[in-house]
Amino acid sequence: MTDSRAPDRAPRGGARQERLRELNLELVFRHVLAAEGPISRTELAAATGLTRPTITRIVEELIAGRLVTEAGSARHGRAGRPRVGLALSRSGPAGLGLDIRADGLAACVVDLTGAVRHLAFAPLAFAGTDPAAVLDRLAAMASAAVEAVAAEHLTVVAATLAVPGPVDGGVVRSAPALGWTDVDAGALLAAGTRRLGLPITVDNEANLAAHGELHATRRTLDNFVYVSGGLDIGAGIILDGRLVRGSRGWSGELGHITVDPDGRPCPCGSRGCLQTYASPQAILGDEPVPDGTMPEVAITTRADAGDAATLAAIDTAGTALGIALSNVLNILDIGTVLLGGGYALLSSWVTERVEAEIARRVLSAAWAPITVRPAILGPDAAAIGAALTFIDRLRQDPAAWFASQR
Ligand SMILES: [Zn+2]
Repeated sequence: MTDSRAPDRAPRGGARQERLRELNLELVFRHVLAAEGPISRTELAAATGLTRPTITRIVEELIAGRLVTEAGSARHGRAGRPRVGLALSRSGPAGLGLDIRADGLAACVVDLTGAVRHLAFAPLAFAGTDPAAVLDRLAAMASAAVEAVAAEHLTVVAATLAVPGPVDGGVVRSAPALGWTDVDAGALLAAGTRRLGLPITVDNEANLAAHGELHATRRTLDNFVYVSGGLDIGAGIILDGRLVRGSRGWSGELGHITVDPDGRPCPCGSRGCLQTYASPQAILGDEPVPDGTMPEVAITTRADAGDAATLAAIDTAGTALGIALSNVLNILDIGTVLLGGGYALLSSWVTERVEAEIARRVLSAAWAPITVRPAILGPDAAAIGAALTFIDRLRQDPAAWFASQR
């Protein structure tokens, strides 16, 4: 592939000027995004190497385009008057995240600062549910969310759907917990949301939740394994601040790591997968859970009441999870495990067992203990992480936002 920026292929005249303007816009916007607080025009000029008049012009454009706003004073220089700080706008573009989780459907909108501006939940029992009916309901929730935030001067620019299983384009290849195989969730959702005209992405919920957690813990934690335990057990792996997706985006199938080669049969066709010992359904056995209740809530209620079978099943789950995670940690050299999704609710019950297995099985744990703790975002992590993906899209191409506003 030829780099369109290579000198011999560079556009000429006006087109070239326009491309330069776009690149400068992108550069300045990235610096405002990366800044830890308000940043001044002078600091932007120093950081980007652009001239002060260019910065002034670009900042005007970013403010007019509702990406950036003037916000109090930036850090002062050693002398002189205080400088006006620039921060990300809370009333411009926004992202929509949709999540299919164990107890129902969630819709979430975040703004450019990463703040959650809308969060809705609809309880739903999935057994025997037709994918088209589920995605129809999500489309209705998407419309309601877009409308709700429009009243706060937010414009939703993209929607991302989180699903519990590997995704290929917009197609959910396999989501055993939903009983879905080769469901074109992207197309179904696009049909239901045509009126909104949003680009739609479908992605694995553990990956999206890990992305959300990375945002929530930014600059304090950039290597961790995020365990998501909603409908299926999945993992989102963050290495050096980046999500490890694998060559086809299918990494992190923690639930199907073998814990016992001769163990219980798994719906995936294998035997003794972690899933068969440590999923909420495995812990609950045949006990039904009321509609709209997270299985993990049912588990903790029974455990709090001292139910012996539940307590034994939790111990088995913790041990199995510790064994599976040890295999991952021995390979990847990561020092932190975050128990997320529904598993965050079980963390006080399973952490000790998980830590014991890791201490016994991970070679490096003897001199560098591994931290196991609940994730910050809890059950909404995947919806929030899905919504946040719009920021990456904007970072890469802020000009597209300006074009959409004309
Ligand atoms: Zn399996």
